[in-house]
Amino acid sequence: MNRQTSFDLPICLAVEEDAFFHSDEIVRRYLPEIMGQKTIIISEEFLIGIYKDKITDISRDFGNAEIYAMGSASFDEAVAIAKKVCVEDIKIIIGIGGGRVLDTAKYAAHISKTVYICMPTSLSNDSLASPFSVLETYGKARKTIECKIPTAIIVDTNMIINAPVGQTLSGIGDTIAKHTALYDWKLSAARTNTRVDDFAYALSRMSYDSVYHCDEKNMQSRVFIRILSRALVMGGLAMEIAGSSRPCSGSEHLFAHAIEEYYPDVKISHGIAVALGSIPACIFQGQDPGGMLDFFKTYGLDVNPVSYGITEDMFADIWEKARTVRAGRITVLDDIKHDRVQLGEIYSRMVEGI
Ligand SMILES: [Zn+2]
Repeated sequence: MNRQTSFDLPICLAVEEDAFFHSDEIVRRYLPEIMGQKTIIISEEFLIGIYKDKITDISRDFGNAEIYAMGSASFDEAVAIAKKVCVEDIKIIIGIGGGRVLDTAKYAAHISKTVYICMPTSLSNDSLASPFSVLETYGKARKTIECKIPTAIIVDTNMIINAPVGQTLSGIGDTIAKHTALYDWKLSAARTNTRVDDFAYALSRMSYDSVYHCDEKNMQSRVFIRILSRALVMGGLAMEIAGSSRPCSGSEHLFAHAIEEYYPDVKISHGIAVALGSIPACIFQGQDPGGMLDFFKTYGLDVNPVSYGITEDMFADIWEKARTVRAGRITVLDDIKHDRVQLGEIYSRMVEGI
């Protein structure tokens, strides 16, 4: 993707306790002109069940907005929602859910040119504020597609504290992966005689630093959730400013993409997969992964490949596939040979956690 010369920023970023209970007040504060306009809430059946009271409350606040339970997180579903929005003169889309819902709602808002309010129920990756949606295209095959970033992002810290721990760990993994992504971005820029965008770089680096060096080790504390929320949003904005996913995605993401495409039976979330990828990526880049391993241990983020059913052979194969999974994306993988002995050593180190 080429660098762009202009970028958008969300008008509102509210990270507050019980924000979902007064989302209308927050929106009125930032976007008074949109209040009273026809709104649709996009979520999923099971979330609508779990968060019935909150979602009903939000619907009431936005003029009895229709609550729409989406099906697949697919391109077709996003287009179907966009069609409904255009035909029924809906002006605001509110997405309430995890990555699947938020990516679908974001893309539907992008193609229908409506205001998009993003309200995450969990923080599993940095796509909430990014200019990309990951959607199913043909069957289960997924593609990352460019789109507009949200108009408003409202994070309810209480909601995130009560989200499944695995989701938050995934968000932590996606944030820590920026360390190796930024290295690869610089390497690629040097190789292609292009320039890294300093502000995008700084934002992504600060996003990483704020979590990696966070004194609060309780990931279910309000302080940590506030820091993680902002870190993930800043990662998304770094991509928007750079006009590319490079500030947040390097060889560790290629590893995750290779799992997704070639080993779809491996049950691992995006953020955990990139965390697993970031340890070898560190080693390939000549960096010591010790600090990162300690960090993951502190938060209970398991980077033992065995825990996810990834054998040593699979591990080596995934790294081989990672080289070709995104053609044209220059990373440290272009500089190193596929070395089974080294990969075996790294695998053992990750199994033992040292
Ligand atoms: Zn990611």
